[in-house]
Amino acid sequence: MYDKKGRNIDYLRVSLTDRCNLRCIYCMPEDGIDKMCHEDILRFEQVEKIIAASTTLGIKKIRFTGGEPLILKGLDELIAHTASIPLINDISITTNGILLADMAKDLNKAGLKRVNISLDSLKADKFHAITRLGDVNKVFSAIDKCLSLGMVPIKINIVLMKGINDDEIGDFIKLTKYMPIQVRFIELMPIGEGIKYFDKCAMKVEEILERFPELVQIEDESRVASVYKMPGFKGSIGLISPISCKFCSKCNRIRLTSVGTIKPCLHSSEEIDLMPYLDDEQKLIDVIKSAVFNKPAEHHLETERKSDTKRMMYQIGG
Ligand code: SAM
Ligand code: SF4
Repeated sequence: MYDKKGRNIDYLRVSLTDRCNLRCIYCMPEDGIDKMCHEDILRFEQVEKIIAASTTLGIKKIRFTGGEPLILKGLDELIAHTASIPLINDISITTNGILLADMAKDLNKAGLKRVNISLDSLKADKFHAITRLGDVNKVFSAIDKCLSLGMVPIKINIVLMKGINDDEIGDFIKLTKYMPIQVRFIELMPIGEGIKYFDKCAMKVEEILERFPELVQIEDESRVASVYKMPGFKGSIGLISPISCKFCSKCNRIRLTSVGTIKPCLHSSEEIDLMPYLDDEQKLIDVIKSAVFNKPAEHHLETERKSDTKRMMYQIGG
């Protein structure tokens, strides 16, 4: 359906949990987070009700995220259920990839065709330092596994941080030489733990074009990324600049948090609680419809230098 700014909202991002098996420095506090009560977190059958209601309003695309979605049991069943809804034509996940090599086959069989894998460094020690817990080799295995299953194009998300991983831009670009992957550089956002790093490490993705003038822009249907290619390479490079070149006027998404609220805009504090309406299908549809229609026009990160949302990235899912 169209919101009041005329944007066609057809994409729902679902955060299934705020828990994670990593503690990325710009996302999660080092000591992790307090555990929530079970009743406060959406169960999969409640997620299914919200997805079903959203499809009646024109949602066609679902992304499962978190926290880390792969730590949840039964994700393959949720994906299979979602894939059985005829109006859904695209199901993807955003994951840190740590558990993906072992789970990819079952998830693919259940209906998952695409994955976005977060990978902020190709170097084992630096990857461990950024994620505070992760083993980069597990992520490499996950990428190989997804490629062998034909889950292409795989998108690799890199949060670009000056002085931390900007020395690896060239190595990430080289990954696209033989692999049909899209390496996507994302600007660090001043949200949650990211605020602590923003002043020191934020960097515009346009700098990549200055450092690598050989990159050639290509046509791509992505709404959020400008897509480039190194001539002759198999894969592509996406530049995502939520701050320096914001894409609010093309935004087609709403978000569902794991506590059952709809966030019409990532950076707005506005949330609509769906929990009271889960047993009344028509009311649920009406409330989501109103949330979509009233989606905020834009964020103000570029001037405020801080997100308005009170939520952390691990609660929203990116
Ligand atoms: N755990 C999964 C993962 O890391 O892919 C999914 C959830 S994570 C919150 C989703 C995406 O948000 C990741 O690509 C992560 O790098 C990104 N992210 C988290 N905090 C961020 C920040 N402050 N600025 C930019 N991206 C951020
Ligand atoms: Fe976990 Fe993803 Fe946040 Fe890293 S970015 S701490 S993997 S939720």
